[in-house]
Amino acid sequence: IDFSKASFKDFENIPNHDIFKRAKAHQGYLNYLRENEFMNYRLLATSGCGPEIGLAEQGYIKKGNYISFVCNDYLGFTQHPEVKNAVIAGVEKYGTGAGASPLIGGYLDYHKELEDKISTFFKRPKGSSIVYTTGYTSNSASLLCLLKKEDIAIVDMAVHASVYEGITGSTVKRFLHNNVENLERILAASKDVYRTKMVIVDGVYSQDGDIAKLREILEVTHKYGGVLLVDDAHGIGVIGNTGRGAMEYFDVLDQVDIITGTFSKTFANVGGYLVAKNPELISYLHFQSRQYAFSAASTPAIVGVSRAIDLIDEEPHWKVQLWKNVEYYKKGLIDIGLDIGDTDSAIIPVKIGDVYKNSKAGKILLENGVYTNPIMYPAVSLKDSRIRMSLMATHTKDHLDKALNVFEYVSKKLQIAESVHNLQ
Ligand code: PMP
Repeated sequence: IDFSKASFKDFENIPNHDIFKRAKAHQGYLNYLRENEFMNYRLLATSGCGPEIGLAEQGYIKKGNYISFVCNDYLGFTQHPEVKNAVIAGVEKYGTGAGASPLIGGYLDYHKELEDKISTFFKRPKGSSIVYTTGYTSNSASLLCLLKKEDIAIVDMAVHASVYEGITGSTVKRFLHNNVENLERILAASKDVYRTKMVIVDGVYSQDGDIAKLREILEVTHKYGGVLLVDDAHGIGVIGNTGRGAMEYFDVLDQVDIITGTFSKTFANVGGYLVAKNPELISYLHFQSRQYAFSAASTPAIVGVSRAIDLIDEEPHWKVQLWKNVEYYKKGLIDIGLDIGDTDSAIIPVKIGDVYKNSKAGKILLENGVYTNPIMYPAVSLKDSRIRMSLMATHTKDHLDKALNVFEYVSKKLQIAESVHNLQ
């Protein structure tokens, strides 16, 4: 393998290589990336999630405090004293673990209270939601259970990896990103062919930060007898007048058939959920979804999620501040001449394209005290590398101004703004 042209995907199927030889080849690739200073992943942090993060000394990175855009804790609730106290109170009351899977002793009243809170948050009756131990399994485990080869999953091509994993047992068709005409064509052709026709979209897309056209998508889905699943992991708490996400923004909260989401972003914890119109579907998952039935229930730390959910309603100023930060920062990046695509959320990509230039930008940003995520294939397509950033309500103007200064420097040094203009 020519490491200079390789990507992480290339190590899956090397002929005549068993897993140990493949891992060795993969290690060679990691070493190559490190030696060439392109290794900006899995960095070791020494402090919690926030607008500033401590990094340990590693490779070219010096130990110290960095302005950070890598946390999806948009409202800053992982550091909110009341959320922390709720987690502590949960652990004090129940101990540190649930001790069993939910079907055989691990279903505790804090799980039921959180399920009810989530149902109420989405204006659904109690009994409408199930809590999984990650947002990833809320998609992958539920879809693996619900959709078989007689069913079709019609997915926006930019949906999250957890959805792709969940539909490995069903028939799959992908539609062009946010393209309702293309979706309608696939729905029309599937109408009388499959048992369940499930359209799956993200509310806010995790790499571009753009919002799904939910109203039109819902309309065509129902027109052809399909059901719509929306994963709004990045929209909840951020989008919509009261933070109910992209579904609230388009006023379709009561019409979406299935909602999935995570506790790992605005809810400031770990875990995930699925909300359905029919409570029978929830009971079906309780007993038929293998990763729910055969895996330990969430720890009492998720008691903190209830407090975070309440704070979305009780302290709306966090969302107001987040949006002020987003608008200020976006304007600053655009003024430098950078391409931030079509984001309408707190996810801000700076599109660079070339994978090496992108890694280099990530490195120079770090060397100048700014911690971001350089994203490359297979998370996005090969020529679509970008610096991905998540804004937080707790970023100060000073954080944003310092980061913009460094971006201006990086842009000049790597001629990023110029190459963006050349493409137009
Ligand atoms: N859905 C989307 C759109 C995501 O971006 C992510 C990644 N965080 C997930 C689901 C998975 O969530 P979790 O981190 O809770 O497993």
